[in-house]
Amino acid sequence: MRENDLIARHFRLTPVQTAALRKLGLITIRDLLYHFPARYEAQGSDASARELVPGTKVTLYGTLSKLKAKKLWKSRRAVTEGWFEDATGRVKCMWFNQPYIASYVSEGSFVRLAGTVGGSGKSPYIANPEFEVVPRGSVPNGLFVEEARSQKLDARSSVLPVYPESRGVTSLWFYHAIKRILEDGAHKEIADPIPEDIRKKYHLPDVWTALVWTHAPEKNEHAEAARKRFAFEEIFIMQTARAQERALNDAQAPFLISNGETHAEKFLASINFPPTRAQSCAIVDILKDFSGSHPMARLLEGDVGSGKTLVAAAAAYTVVHSRPTGRTSGTLQVAYMAPTEILATQHFQSFIEYFRHLPINIALITGSGCWKFPSKVSRGKPTAISRVQLLKWVENGEIAMVVGTHALIQKSVKFRNLALAIVDEQHKFGTKQRRALTKKSSYAPHFLSMTATPIPRTLALTLYGDLDISVLDELPPGRAKVTTRIIKKEDRAGAYESVRRELREGRQAFVVCPRIEEPDPEKMNALQAKSAKAEAKHLQKDVFPEFKVGLLHGAMAQKEKDHCMQEFAAGKIQVLVATSVVEVGLNVPNATVMMIEGAERFGLAQLHQLRGRIMRSSHPPHCFLLPETFGQVSSKRLRALEKSSDGFKLAEADLETRGAGDLLGRRQWGISDIGMEALKNPRLIQAAREEAFALVREDPALRRYQELAARAASVSGAMHSE
Ligand code: ADP
Ligand code: MG
Repeated sequence: MRENDLIARHFRLTPVQTAALRKLGLITIRDLLYHFPARYEAQGSDASARELVPGTKVTLYGTLSKLKAKKLWKSRRAVTEGWFEDATGRVKCMWFNQPYIASYVSEGSFVRLAGTVGGSGKSPYIANPEFEVVPRGSVPNGLFVEEARSQKLDARSSVLPVYPESRGVTSLWFYHAIKRILEDGAHKEIADPIPEDIRKKYHLPDVWTALVWTHAPEKNEHAEAARKRFAFEEIFIMQTARAQERALNDAQAPFLISNGETHAEKFLASINFPPTRAQSCAIVDILKDFSGSHPMARLLEGDVGSGKTLVAAAAAYTVVHSRPTGRTSGTLQVAYMAPTEILATQHFQSFIEYFRHLPINIALITGSGCWKFPSKVSRGKPTAISRVQLLKWVENGEIAMVVGTHALIQKSVKFRNLALAIVDEQHKFGTKQRRALTKKSSYAPHFLSMTATPIPRTLALTLYGDLDISVLDELPPGRAKVTTRIIKKEDRAGAYESVRRELREGRQAFVVCPRIEEPDPEKMNALQAKSAKAEAKHLQKDVFPEFKVGLLHGAMAQKEKDHCMQEFAAGKIQVLVATSVVEVGLNVPNATVMMIEGAERFGLAQLHQLRGRIMRSSHPPHCFLLPETFGQVSSKRLRALEKSSDGFKLAEADLETRGAGDLLGRRQWGISDIGMEALKNPRLIQAAREEAFALVREDPALRRYQELAARAASVSGAMHSE
């Protein structure tokens, strides 16, 4: 067996298993080895049904039958009863408040069952046992299930790994498959990406030991040490990729931007409000970068409404006032990329407002058309132009600023002197697109990324570790404060009445739901989150028949989404029911209400961002949180939102109470669960970062660290948008 072999070469897989493994992203033997247990169970000793001692923890192998759901006569509690049977005898099992269990397993399924024996010695039973169906023929080695019993789970080990499952591949399948790989010794082929001296320094086991300790731990401490090692490994590899990206950036010669301070001052004097202290600091950071020896690589983090556009505009202003080196005419160019057409159009309009007095051309390029300002015929207005025309003017330098969507990074777009690339909401783009944009120039352009996504510092360092960071930690004065209220079930009607009052005044409302689709009738027992589709219908028909209710969700085509957002922005739709796609900076100052259904399902940072959608209005905004459940933990989290309006503080709080996996909902950061856990540990992040940067400084191409170089190359640019 080799680490690169396909799993299918060594294990007989059913089509269902093949599909399930693919869904988990597991293709090779190596992938299996890096599929880590989600948790460990203290292993009850193997036992047989005849010799059960009350009060002991046991693991049994046999069949489950005669499962029946009923109600207890007195307490009306739901209970499912059934019988477990093995070669030696049988024992009664019961599950409380799990009426659906009977529908999980078919009569006579072979299972591994674990639980604590209750009752008396004469009539024992097992209450609420955990069990796992072992599908016939799925046990590796071609073993049939009856033999699984005899193939005793590792006798030495007292902790049993439990793997993340998918329909068709059980935890037990992983356990046996990985055990076979370890016995075969295939894991010894894996090269250790962490250099030995670093391993020694932080007391980390080598990769072979760690693999064994993860999958077949003899004791808890081993499993923990292995987990710590793999957490370090993942962050260390990501930091190495960031360090290399940074080194590449710093090796390039920058565009010279002359007299930055003078121009920035002039620009700030031309607007009719003073910048906030935070904005001034960010502008100073940028000007410093402009006069440095390498291109700027900076992230501007700031809450919704903190005024990032102004900072970007100040930077753009100084750039278009610089001449290309050695020339007496023409200007350097700026590209500004936004994730949606709506946003691109909004930025185009803001830039026109900021720069209409300047003798420069500003253009907009999107999938559906191109615009230029000023128009030759009616000055002071933008005009539609052809794509061909726009491309020509950008290439010959006549257009100084181009705002656009993804259309900006297409190959056909060429610049004469692109000196500054600005990307709004970078996490929607990913590193690859960013690089595509910065490649459009003879020199490397200065790069400014902007995000309103409040993320904890450890995550920022991991995702954007190649960028310097400026933070806008204050809002411009005089903003209306959002009132945030948690609405109890019985107060829903009252909340709708407050919304109706706003709508009658001519305001608009967002209603955000956690899901797109209607509930799945097969899963009626599970807690059902409200779906945007069903909620839109319901609100239109039963709650707000006198207003127009619209629907916006992530599965809609971009064209449809844009159309819907335009209708909302134009006030043709009064209530917009949406999934969390509205999170992206849609600017509708007339929207003053945000209702969030299933609020406890969202991360605090995400809720805060949603709430930010209604902070632009001069009318007082209202945010209603409508949780489905009122558990202690979730109520505490939501109350934090009632009290605090600092997105970054909320993100840190969320990291502590819920764990990083839940941060910002289920978005893909390209980080595993183990890596996410590591984000709770600032010292680990800092150590991995320092070591990675030191290594790259000393050996930029990582010639002496081939494995590390290969792994870093595979993670750089691997960040996905939603
Ligand atoms: P964001 O950081 O969310 O992109 P914007 O740049 O869209 O925020 O700014 C939000 C609003 O605040 C805009 O209407 C902008 O004109 C205004 N604004 C920005 N800076 C200031 C300031 N220093 N004083 C007053 N208003 C400001
Ligand atoms: Mg913005």
